[in-house]
Amino acid sequence: MPEIYFLDVTNRDGVQTARLGLSKLEKTMLNRYLNRMGVFQSEFGFPTTKHESLYLQANLELQEIGKMRPIRLSGWVRATVEDVHIAFELVPKLKHLNLSISTSEQMIHGKWAGRLTEDDVIASMTRALDAAREHGAESVGINAEDASRTNLDFLIRFSRAAKEHGADRVRYCDTLGYDNPFTIYDAMKTLAESIELPLEVHCHGDLGMAVANSLAGAKGALDGGQDIYINTTVNGIGERAGNADLVATILAVTKSKGFGGKYALGRPITLTQAWRTAQFASYAFGVPIPVNQPGVGANAFAHASGIHADGVLKDPQNYELYSFSELGRGEPELVETGREICSGEYSGVSGFRHLMGRIAVTFDDAEDARRKLELVRYANVLAQKPLTTDELKFICKYPEISRKLLTLVPE
Ligand SMILES: [Zn+2]
Repeated sequence: MPEIYFLDVTNRDGVQTARLGLSKLEKTMLNRYLNRMGVFQSEFGFPTTKHESLYLQANLELQEIGKMRPIRLSGWVRATVEDVHIAFELVPKLKHLNLSISTSEQMIHGKWAGRLTEDDVIASMTRALDAAREHGAESVGINAEDASRTNLDFLIRFSRAAKEHGADRVRYCDTLGYDNPFTIYDAMKTLAESIELPLEVHCHGDLGMAVANSLAGAKGALDGGQDIYINTTVNGIGERAGNADLVATILAVTKSKGFGGKYALGRPITLTQAWRTAQFASYAFGVPIPVNQPGVGANAFAHASGIHADGVLKDPQNYELYSFSELGRGEPELVETGREICSGEYSGVSGFRHLMGRIAVTFDDAEDARRKLELVRYANVLAQKPLTTDELKFICKYPEISRKLLTLVPE
């Protein structure tokens, strides 16, 4: 029976969002939260971008020492031989890749002004795919950008070529959020049946249907007999109107009528990590979670009206589809209302030791504390806001890996 996997693209699509971004430490923390949630793969960045190199290497290094497993970390590059070469030059230990190229007539004419034909698109993709294999890539996904506006016959031809050259998956990108659940179901089912290869579905919210389309696209692939890798971002952060929200999509897959329990998850999801993950992304991006966000919004379990309050008190299932505790909510949170010592780029050793003492982090000696404080200062320069407890703990636990994450030296 085909299975459902989650593939989060916050560290690639999310950080491409206008006016938003994450520091390399924040991206690393996010990979860790996603791993704890049971997300199968994190598209963790851009291996051809020089300022990403040390971050990408450091995250792969974490995996090498047995940490942050089993999540797969995959790089995103354009489907050209040049990009693949640069990716492996800058990040030699890269194991997983997604190669992206536009497939729609609109893009072929609108973007490349007819300089590339459909055959050129296929040739560029297959050459890049061959190159990735030669460099030793363990898995390669092929992304059809603007798939929803691509002629389906060409999309099938493109995908078959990808399969012949050893692609592990094809990503159907509804790049502009143009699909609806009916059209994407049909397209994904046809694609699954025609190419017989696991698929990815990548949806945007320009028409407010990113989660619904992801679910329908997934069903198309599953009904067509193939595994599906649903692309999401944490809190739906993504270009323009955003991507399919990770938590909402998990809830839709596991709780919605006729879907929940019917299809198998390829990797179990630890939904109780949802709250922490969403909170961290909100803080790191500096974007509040909307009060009506499914599962993690402030109002997701709030009841005021008499009938609803009475009903939910008698039996929560009267007015709640799932429980707050399933999402890891309900724990008391300590909020300092008096004096507060927080980390900053000009922090001193006394304040730092006080701060770390409160979260039970100890140091070998004064020199050890000073060394780690220096890293925390740099992290603050990059974040421009106090670090979270998890970030502080991470720096103290992995000082050498943190040093890499904090090193940015332009050529
Ligand atoms: Zn996208």
